[in-house]
Amino acid sequence: MNQLPPFVHEIAPKLSARELSSREVTQFFIDRIEKLQPTVNAFISWDAELALKTADVIDKRRIAGETLSPLAGMPIAIKDILCTTDSLTTCGSRILENYRSPYDAHVVAKLRAAGLVILGKTNLDEFAMGGSTETGFKGPAYNPWDLTRTCGGSSGGSAASVAAAMAPIAIGTDTGGSIRQPAAFCGICGLKPTYGRVSRYGLIAYASSLDQAGPFGHTISDLAMQLQIIAGHDPNDSTSLNVPVDDYVSEIAKPLSGVKIGVIREHLDGEGLDPQTRSALVEAIDEYKRMGCEIVDIHMPHTKYSIATYYIIAPSEASSNLSRYDGVHFGFRAALNQAKQLVTQGGKTPSALIEMISQSRSQGFGVEVRRRIMLGTYTLSAGYYDAYYKKALRVRRLIREDYDAAFEKVDVLLGPTTPTPPFRIGEKVNDPVQMYLEDLFTVGANLAGIPALSMPVGTTLSGLPIGMQLQGAPLSESKLLRVANAYHRAIEYRPKIALAI
Ligand code: GLN
Repeated sequence: MNQLPPFVHEIAPKLSARELSSREVTQFFIDRIEKLQPTVNAFISWDAELALKTADVIDKRRIAGETLSPLAGMPIAIKDILCTTDSLTTCGSRILENYRSPYDAHVVAKLRAAGLVILGKTNLDEFAMGGSTETGFKGPAYNPWDLTRTCGGSSGGSAASVAAAMAPIAIGTDTGGSIRQPAAFCGICGLKPTYGRVSRYGLIAYASSLDQAGPFGHTISDLAMQLQIIAGHDPNDSTSLNVPVDDYVSEIAKPLSGVKIGVIREHLDGEGLDPQTRSALVEAIDEYKRMGCEIVDIHMPHTKYSIATYYIIAPSEASSNLSRYDGVHFGFRAALNQAKQLVTQGGKTPSALIEMISQSRSQGFGVEVRRRIMLGTYTLSAGYYDAYYKKALRVRRLIREDYDAAFEKVDVLLGPTTPTPPFRIGEKVNDPVQMYLEDLFTVGANLAGIPALSMPVGTTLSGLPIGMQLQGAPLSESKLLRVANAYHRAIEYRPKIALAI
């Protein structure tokens, strides 16, 4: 099976023409996982037997002449923060090490219903808090293009699995850039949809007003095909939008006519942007000009506050969401005799229950998650709520208004996904401020609730991937994907696989 093509646009037609079976395709990716997992560490768990069984069911249905969806029989990897009933869902955390969900996430249910074959659950930063996939309890995932570097985060396992053809496509989640930044670092495409376009039901919460699941793939068409399946209203998520789903797949093929592209000057000219990234973007802007697009300079005066705003709002919501992990309701519980010992220490005796909860949380959560809980508890506390949390909400509104004003002038905003190409493993993980600054260009879209994608736009001189970010008005995914696709078509983009087949 070594000669099997690893791309969706090659596999899908062969599956529907019955030139390939889903079992063969699934086996190919399982072989890749088994070969590369020790090197890349992209997965937290996978189940070859279960995946092959699912593949067989799809093959039988196809042979029986059933009309199947376009991605039926296609394998897919899922970030280990989306609930699945037939495997563990750990969030990369010791506290959920043995957690099995009694229900599937809405996204997962939709993918199963469309006949996709779930290969396994991918590595992430603990509870999706991070930008490098280094903080999960299963250790770091490695960038398949350079194993000394991070694959970005927090959905780094999903991105790395696609880049290394351990899965043809994957699902991640994006709270402040966790789909786009790993897509950029791994040389693939990734989309964060409009807030509410994809149901959050069964997506274990990090920051509920920012979290959104979305697809990874080698091409823009891979993103459109997955979004087609996972988008839509879900009564189980009260923030899910009850608006019709566009036909993304046919929309992306349409020509670009009269599209106006905005360039956020604060992003392109701001300090800290790697010069090679900048020149790749300048070339892309020229390409759009050649395609007849009008390029418009955009100023977003409040963009400079986005990191500060995000790192107040996200930890505030996290501290509240993560209060449910108490050693009682879910997962890991600190050994009780240890708790009892602590009870008897000192003059004033804390209750055994409080000690158990406190020990479970301090042993179960890693250092970054505890930092966020501390931060969020502080910014939500009575004395500081107005000064931090409430003020951050006000600035969030101003950031959204910057975007609203921009989208009155242009259709999409073009800019960098990340300030730098992939950094080294260990380089920033002990320096939270440096790590947070990596999110400079991505958090704005989450604060504003708008769709945004990252796509490959070239490589550095040393061959590291560079990503370009496109952002659009709420629910403009069709247009965003169309503008992205037109660029890849114009440069005759050919996706590549890292760690050659
Ligand atoms: N790096 C950001 C954070 O740590 C974004 C994470 C995400 O999008 N899940 O919060």
